[in-house]
Amino acid sequence: MGTSSQHEIDQNKVSGILKETFGFDEFRFEQKNVIQSILQQQDTLAIMPTGGGKSLCYQLPALYFDGLTVVISPLISLMHDQVSNLKQHNIDAEFLNSSLGMAQKRDIEERLIQGKIKLLYIAPEGILNSYIMNMLKNMKISCFAIDEAHCVSQWGHEFRKDYTRLNELKEYFPNVPTIALTATADKKTREDICQQLSLNNPNIYISTFDRPNIRYAIYERKNEIRQLDQFIKLNHPTDVGIVYCLSRKKVEKVAEDLTELGYAAHAYHAGLSPQRRMAVQEKFNKDDHIIIVATIAFGMGIDRPDVRYVAHLDLPKSIESYYQETGRAGRDGEPSNAWMMYGLQDVVKLNQMLELTDADDQYKRNAKIKLDAMLSLSESLQCRRKILLNYFGQEAPDTCDNCDACLEPQETWDATIESQKLMSTIYRTGQIFGSSYLIQVLRGSANAKILERGHDKLSVYGIGKDLSGPQWNSVIRQLLSLKYICIKNWEYRSLALTPQSSSVLKSKEKLTLRKLKEQKVSSKGISKKKKAKNFDHKHPDLFEKLRVLRRSIADENKIPPFMVFSDKTLHDMCLIYPRNPDDMMMVHGIGASKLEKYGDVFLNEISSYRQ
Ligand code: ADP
Ligand code: ZN
Repeated sequence: MGTSSQHEIDQNKVSGILKETFGFDEFRFEQKNVIQSILQQQDTLAIMPTGGGKSLCYQLPALYFDGLTVVISPLISLMHDQVSNLKQHNIDAEFLNSSLGMAQKRDIEERLIQGKIKLLYIAPEGILNSYIMNMLKNMKISCFAIDEAHCVSQWGHEFRKDYTRLNELKEYFPNVPTIALTATADKKTREDICQQLSLNNPNIYISTFDRPNIRYAIYERKNEIRQLDQFIKLNHPTDVGIVYCLSRKKVEKVAEDLTELGYAAHAYHAGLSPQRRMAVQEKFNKDDHIIIVATIAFGMGIDRPDVRYVAHLDLPKSIESYYQETGRAGRDGEPSNAWMMYGLQDVVKLNQMLELTDADDQYKRNAKIKLDAMLSLSESLQCRRKILLNYFGQEAPDTCDNCDACLEPQETWDATIESQKLMSTIYRTGQIFGSSYLIQVLRGSANAKILERGHDKLSVYGIGKDLSGPQWNSVIRQLLSLKYICIKNWEYRSLALTPQSSSVLKSKEKLTLRKLKEQKVSSKGISKKKKAKNFDHKHPDLFEKLRVLRRSIADENKIPPFMVFSDKTLHDMCLIYPRNPDDMMMVHGIGASKLEKYGDVFLNEISSYRQ
């Protein structure tokens, strides 16, 4: 006996919408299953990596169903981009938020009531407003889509109070299926989402978290601007990139330095005026060579697909953040770099910031666990991708051949004796000093403070001259991440022993550590074979012509160029070299609506090039 929730699905209609409206040939990751589940009108939780294609999971069903799909989205900029993108595909989508004028609002409401809108984007506080709720109650709602659903979870890293009231939707609309979407996968967040949103026996789909086109690399910080400059010069001299820094001050400084070096770099952080931020965001959407130097305030709502690299000049607070930020590179699936630099100071600074916030203990404990995981990712000798995937609960092979650990295996050394020396120094000076003082004692510095305290009389004084300061820093960082030592007092950043220390001190355990990499200034870059932009066609000049055409169409329509066509689509045109609309339909990213809009102009351009 079938249950009442068994619905006959017209698969031809589904693949028709996929190809005709969106211009895609096939589903990606779990899209197919997620969509089938929604079409069966089942509550669904879809977990997909950033750039994985979450939007299609509710946009396609929205077009399949009669009635309205309501999309709850946390950010105005996000709604705005999604809606202009949908309009490019001739889809009736609108958003309702505070940025609209009275007349615009009226007009949208009218069309809603007439059933002329398929997708409505709205913020959580907007939908719970009683006026809008009453309007929706009188309409045929086919589905609720809750984007960035991890915002309901306190455990998550972007908790939003408004999200916790969304379970009210289930009270008012018990028969409307809900799809929740997020890129945050851990089990706790997942459970929170299902429970907080009162999802009814949901189907849960978790897509692979692997982003094979992204090359991960993590290096020690020496001279960050020089390192960054060399990395960009070598790998991405004319590409679009994002550089993340922890503080606003540093953002400004790095943007200035890069500008001086001749790059088109722009700062972005929450301290800038809204106008300025908007202008930078717009430039970022339009320009072909641009670097945005930003705090994490620059993030949500970016869907430019051809960002070729994301560089971190500071350690992110968690693997989730790292993954999400690096995930902004290479959404188009082309080779891209996630390049990070960090040092002991980051670990200390982040821990200190955490210790000194007013947050409750539970929050601090969670945040500390997450930071530790990020630290072990940075310090590990293992394949970075494997660690990332395992962290998200996914199996992975031991090597990926596309991260620094796999491509440039680290040398290791037996650091048992040096670790003992460090631990003894920590112990004998009373477990109250920070790393730089301890290193001075180890290296036998004649610093007045050392002499004053009589630490030059200790047996450990000067026993560590064989290692340089940076080498000692590297040892300390690794021992911290392995928990052989800890930071006891955050204000003074003093180092102390842990229960684990004694087995090393008593020589019961051998310690193998990574060697400090010598002034290695850049990743080897993307190998020739995988080099971005090295597309397999013989018409780079045609590509440039198409790019210019795309830009003028974009300017005319006041939309970013990538909303007209992606680079990939343009390259595909150079490859397929279409002569007529039928050929054009074979090009990646072209469906009926794009063909109708731009097919002729592009065909003309190609035909005049051919002559
Ligand atoms: P996110 O999961 O981060 O919300 P998006 O929904 O913005 O990702 O999709 C990321 C990119 O992938 C977009 O450029 C989108 O057009 C593209 N995309 C989505 N689904 C497919 C598909 N089935 N085939 C090809 N490209 C797709
Ligand atoms: Zn690897």
